[in-house]
Parts: sequence; structure tokens; C-alpha cells
Amino acid sequence: GYNLIIFFIISHLMSILGKLNPWNPSIPYEILSLNISSKLSTNSHAIKESSKDFGKIIQEILPAAVLYPSCVNDIIDLIQFSHDLSVPFHVAAKGHGHSIRGQAMAKNGVIVEMSSLNNNNNENCGVRVSWDLGLGFYADVGGEQLWIDVLCSTLEYGLAPVSWTDYLYLTVGGTLSNAGISGQTFRYGPQISNVHEMDVITGKGELVTCSKDMNSELFFGVLGGLGQFGIITRARIVLDKAPTRVSITVKWVRMLYDDFSKFTKDQEHLISIHHNGLDYVEGSLMMEQSSLNNWRSSFFSPSNQTKIASLLSKNKIMYCLEIVKYYDDQNANTIDEELKKLVKGLRYLGGFIFKKDVSFVEFLNRVRSGELELQSKGKWDVPHPWLNLFVPKSSIMHFHAAVFVDIILRQNKTTGPILVYPTSRKRWDDRMSTMIPEEETFYCVGLLHSSSGYKECKILDNQNEEILNYCDEVGLNIKQYLPHYKTKEDWIKHFGKKWNIFQQRKDLFDPKMILSPGQRIFN
Ligand code: FAD
Repeated sequence: GYNLIIFFIISHLMSILGKLNPWNPSIPYEILSLNISSKLSTNSHAIKESSKDFGKIIQEILPAAVLYPSCVNDIIDLIQFSHDLSVPFHVAAKGHGHSIRGQAMAKNGVIVEMSSLNNNNNENCGVRVSWDLGLGFYADVGGEQLWIDVLCSTLEYGLAPVSWTDYLYLTVGGTLSNAGISGQTFRYGPQISNVHEMDVITGKGELVTCSKDMNSELFFGVLGGLGQFGIITRARIVLDKAPTRVSITVKWVRMLYDDFSKFTKDQEHLISIHHNGLDYVEGSLMMEQSSLNNWRSSFFSPSNQTKIASLLSKNKIMYCLEIVKYYDDQNANTIDEELKKLVKGLRYLGGFIFKKDVSFVEFLNRVRSGELELQSKGKWDVPHPWLNLFVPKSSIMHFHAAVFVDIILRQNKTTGPILVYPTSRKRWDDRMSTMIPEEETFYCVGLLHSSSGYKECKILDNQNEEILNYCDEVGLNIKQYLPHYKTKEDWIKHFGKKWNIFQQRKDLFDPKMILSPGQRIFN
């Protein structure tokens, strides 16, 4: 009672001063009688900040309030409260807000700022490394943790996760809700294939521990589940020995191609080597207008950049194969020989092979320096109309001719890296929610555009639409990664034969459709 009266007085005064948004009627005042009332904010600044994301495309989807939980029970209280209402409000976990199209937003609902769990009072917080006979080494990690912090903490034990994303300032809960892919995926599978167990708060406000053998329906649903079935508060992540030499531990190589067929055949060959193979295989397109001016270009020295630029002005489009091999004290003397064997017979352009020796952390955290550089030029915090796709191997040559050459090169509108690298279905469990093509080998394609403003963003987005429509019309059987659709029919098509199970899991774990409305699947 007191809480309510005091809140009324304060909120009235604050809204007169313009610091608080007027109380949003979607959330009953009774929420202020809960213990979490002091951790809820309706401050205008908090509301605005919580509804921003990396994409900067979707705006003005404002929540009614923001919760800054200090422990897992705060989130349970919030969801239970909403679930018990006859008209529940939406709740969205916000990890690091690096979604592109408002996936972590919740109009008139409550945003849970997961980062505030990262405090000393939260016993579930942080990164705890353990070992047991069955699982080997693993880390229990809060869903709010950034991968960079998981890396730093586990390295203290000479250990590290095996599967990564290119960029490490993403939360564990955020990437596990999608898949978490990079150049290690062909070997270890995506991040969602490297989780033993999770604690999840469902849409009914129940805290459930799940794994392959315990509450497995929830476990597989949540992995790649786009936040639809629960909020991940802890994940038990597979660890392996990290290359432990103090300084240099990574051989990083890039090779240039002028022929897409040779480039992809070589990539496919490299990911098929099982014994003593590579630790990372990726690749990207190079086009005159974009390739030497993005966050991946720092690899080449200024003199190499000149060499590459003149080749590009002749070829218009080229391909850069990127590989990495980790090494340790044991093989420090033989690593050059090993690498030579691996690249022997590859059909890159003679003389266009570039090597770098770097530390493990420098390699894994490679996008960060590019980010900081773009930030200093004001080019990071701009609209990002990204399009990420999985393309079956049998369609990749067609995709190259029709999309890379006919649409992107011809329209001359690329403004960021374009990633192309193969991976294998083998390490994906079909019970997980993420959709991938049916073929054994498929390509990860990332059109990572950044635009100077909303006009350019719209143009690039129209190009994305054109690409999607084309792939659909000619039946290239692609799947969107980090998917985004406007209609339920499109979602049903996206999930295909998995739609029924996806919907059943929603009925089971979030029957009132409270969670992650920004994905726009059920709302
Ligand atoms: P948010 O944007 O905060 O949330 C994403 C979705 O997950 C929302 O629906 C949200 O409600 C839900 N969610 C957040 N936390 C939780 C939780 N704890 N439990 C349940 N649901 C939750 N992806 C790759 O796979 N590989 C890459 O190499 C890669 N590189 C990237 C580089 C950059 C610069 C950026 C911006 C993104 C990149 N991504 C990559 C995409 C990224 O993995 C996803 O956008 C991811 O969701 C971002 O994590 P986040 O913590 O910012 O999530």
C-alpha cells in the first residue's frame, strides 16, 4: 500500500519534470507491490535506451518499463505476475541489443536488461569453470555474460569454449537463441551444439533446468528458439584446452581467388579434412567499393592493399579464403610445415597469400579493433540492414551468379563485408529450433551492410528483398539466419516441417505468448 502511494506521488512529480513517462496502462499498478518495484524504471531515458538495437532500423517500439534484475528471482516474479493477469503484458530479455530488427524489443511491455544480473549479489552470475568425468571441462555461465568475458575467465584456467561468433560482444543468451556461428562451426558445430545444460525461466515464470536428458523438449526448443520459450539464465558450455603459449598461438592466413568455383571447392576441401585439419575456415567477397574499407581489411598492410586494389579494379569481384590453425609449444616447430601441407594444392592466385601470427585472444577478438576504429569515425552507430542466409551447397554457384554478380555487383551498393563459408549439418541436432537447409553441406552467407543513413538503408533493404524474392522464385532452398518475417505465413514457411513442434512448444512453455514479442512470430 505504502509503495503504491509513494510511487503515485513520485511519479506524478517526475512526469511533471519530464523524467518519467506517464504510467502505461498495459501494466497494472499492482506490479509496484512486488519486491521488484525498486528495480523497475519508467524513466524516459531508460525506456528510450532499452528500445535501441544495433540494426537501428526499427525505432519507437517503446516498452512500458524496464526491469534491472539483480537476481534470477526478479525475472521470475515479473513473468509470474504477467502470466497471472487476464491480459498479460510482454516481456523481452535484452542481452547486448545486437539484434538488427527489434527482436529484443517489447511494445508496451517490460524489457529485462540482462546485463544488470552481472553483479556480485547474484549468486548465479559470472563464469564458473568445473570438470567432471562424464563431461570433461565445462563452464557454468550466466545468460547475460558477454562471450569476451567468458573467454577471459576460462583462459585463466588454460581453457576456452570451442565454438565462437566472429564478434564477442554478444551475450550467451542472445547467441544461443539464434545459433552462434563462425569459422569454427564446420568442426565443432554452432554454439548451440556445445551446451550441456541450461537454466531457463519459462513464459509461466517457472525456473527449469534442462538438458538432452532432462526436460529435453525445453532444452532443444530454447536452442535457436528466438527467445520464444524461456529466458536463459545459465548455460553449461563445453570447454577445451586453449592454446596456452603466452604470446603467439595462431597462424592466420588469407588467400585471394578470382574464380568462385575454385574458391568454394577449396573451402569445401578444407572443411573435409578431419585429421590434423584447420581450426577455422571462413571466406569473404571482395568488391572494389567495399572491401578495402571495412572492419576486416586491417589484415592487409598498406602495400598489400595497393596490390589488391589494382587487381580488384581489373577483376571487379574477388574472393578471400581465410583459415586459421592454432598451435602450442608441442608443435611450435612444425606448425609451418603443417600449414604448408594444408594449403598445398589450393588454387588461389599465385603470390596472393598473406600470413599473420597473432595471439589466441587477438584472433578471436579480431572484430573489436575494427569496431573501435569505425566508432571513432562515427560509422559504427549507423543503420545496419543485414541479411544472413544459409545456402545449400547445390545452390551456391547459382546464388553467386544471380545474387553476388547480377544483383550486388551490378547495383554497386555494397557497403560492408560479405561473408561466404561452408559448414556441415553433421554437428547440428535437428531437434534444436534453428532452421538450416536439408543438404549435408551448406554455406553461411552474411551481407553485413552498414548505411550512411535511412535513405541508403532503405535502398539496401530493397536489395535484400530482391534477393529473398529471387531465391524464393527459383527455389534455391535457402534459410534465413537471424530470421525476420512480417507475416505468420512466412514464419510457417520458414520452419517448414518443424512449425508444428515450434508451436506446440510455445503452447507448452509460453502459452500466454509473453516472451520476445519483437521476433513477431506469435504476436
Ligand atoms: P539481443 O539482441 O539482446 O537479443 C536477441 C534475441 O534473443 C531477442 O529476441 C531477445 O529477447 C533474446 N534473448 C536475449 N537474451 C536472452 C536470454 N538470456 N534468454 C533467452 N532469450 C534471450 N551471430 C553469429 O551467429 N555469428 C557471428 O559471427 C555474429 N556476429 C555478429 C557481429 C555483430 C557486430 C553483430 C551486431 C551481430 C552478430 N551476430 C552474429 C548476431 C548475434 O549473434 C545475434 O544478433 C544475437 O542475438 C545478439 O546477441 P545479443 O546479446 O545482443 O542479443
